[in-house]
Amino acid sequence: MKLNELTAHEILDLIKAGKETPAAVYKSVKEQISKTEGKVHAYARLIDNQEIDNKLRVDSCPIPIAIKDNICIKDNETTCASKILQGFKPPYDATVIKKLKDSKAIFVGNANMDEFAFGSSCETSAFGPTRNPWNIDCVPGGSSGGSAAAVASSEAVWAIGSDTGGSIRQPACLCGVVGLKPTYGVVSRFGLIAFASSLDQIGPITKDVIDNALLLNIISGYDENDSTSVKMEKPDYTKALIKDIKGIRIGIPKEYFIEGIDPEVEKSVKDSIEKLKSLGAVVKEISLPHTEYAVATYYITATAEASSNLARFDGVQYGLRAIPKSQRKNPIVDMYEETRNQGFGREAKRRIMLGTYALSSGYYDAYYLRALKVRTLIKNDFDKVFKDCDCIVTPTSPTTAFKIGERMDDPIAMYLSDIYTIPANLSGIPAISIPCGFSKNNLPIGLQIMAKAFDEKMLFKVAYAYEQSTDWHKKRVSL
Ligand code: GLN
Repeated sequence: MKLNELTAHEILDLIKAGKETPAAVYKSVKEQISKTEGKVHAYARLIDNQEIDNKLRVDSCPIPIAIKDNICIKDNETTCASKILQGFKPPYDATVIKKLKDSKAIFVGNANMDEFAFGSSCETSAFGPTRNPWNIDCVPGGSSGGSAAAVASSEAVWAIGSDTGGSIRQPACLCGVVGLKPTYGVVSRFGLIAFASSLDQIGPITKDVIDNALLLNIISGYDENDSTSVKMEKPDYTKALIKDIKGIRIGIPKEYFIEGIDPEVEKSVKDSIEKLKSLGAVVKEISLPHTEYAVATYYITATAEASSNLARFDGVQYGLRAIPKSQRKNPIVDMYEETRNQGFGREAKRRIMLGTYALSSGYYDAYYLRALKVRTLIKNDFDKVFKDCDCIVTPTSPTTAFKIGERMDDPIAMYLSDIYTIPANLSGIPAISIPCGFSKNNLPIGLQIMAKAFDEKMLFKVAYAYEQSTDWHKKRVSL
């Protein structure tokens, strides 16, 4: 395998043994980019002139990383793949970026994404779509599609994404890599450009489970700049990487194996459950009765919060300012309107309208308040199940990667891509997606594991035990 195709932990071992240098690793990533980026388009922009420090400290981790384009990097254009933020250079680093800089990370580029993280296919980006490295006629999933595609095509060794309703796990699943949405409050959101603040979490996208635990070790921890960040002792997640899962109680929710699930996905997931049983886990069927309301609840809550968060983009402080050719109302209102009209794409406009409607007087009680109540019922379902289960196993996505363009004119079909991932965001619990098979068309299939809040270690333990007994994570794309 070429250097860029290795995992971060394999690369670190080589660097520590003096057999390779961070500069050589970065060079192999750049070579890959010049070869495959024209086909994949994983990046909104590349970050050139990286300073590489070949001297190693104990805690250095000089690994080339892709950063989703909604996470602020000081003085580096950051746009959420939207025209409205074009030219915006944040005056500060997000907390995760600061932590990565402290660890000597090498920033390869800003990964492409759905505009403002609205989407499941990476097609709503103002820069055009990213393509799935396993089949470039297919979507990579979204919204962190660029991050997942960069890792799958080895155009980065690992990546950072954000997940509001599935945006780390679903693209990780569709691209055959590992993606984790941590518990709400484990990773600071300071410097993440907000979509839905009560749901957003930053998390790692990597080639295997060991890398995922390593990257979470770097980016997690209390941050006084984020009032929802949780003050707790920082665990060493790599300590959970042990193969023994004997006696671990796994729940399989019957509501997750429904009509519409691709038979190949269902088969791979059921085979994986058998594998977990053979490793000693105790598997039983459970029920999460409010699952059917999750997508509707999410789209009220998420659009309501998004409409409020996106109100700040009006041409005054950030990015684009558009002045209409002729005056319509008064100069300032005309400027706001023209900026938002030109700056936001179709899906962003749709979400702002939906969210504003759900929050408007007369409808607030009927929609927004009711969604908050149902959100509590969904969370209560999980609380109940976790009284006698250690984790829950489900598919990550009901289908494998779909064709580019296929769901663009059918927002409901697109929204249903996240049917299995949304409940974890609504409940704040951690969830990971790991590769668990391939379809006959050679498209990856993913397994989702969920655990109770702050029990990331349980996810890593079960995911690691599964991964060590399979080879799915070792497959590499040839492009
Ligand atoms: N696909 C979902 C949406 O469009 C989730 C997006 C996300 O997690 N950022 O809202």
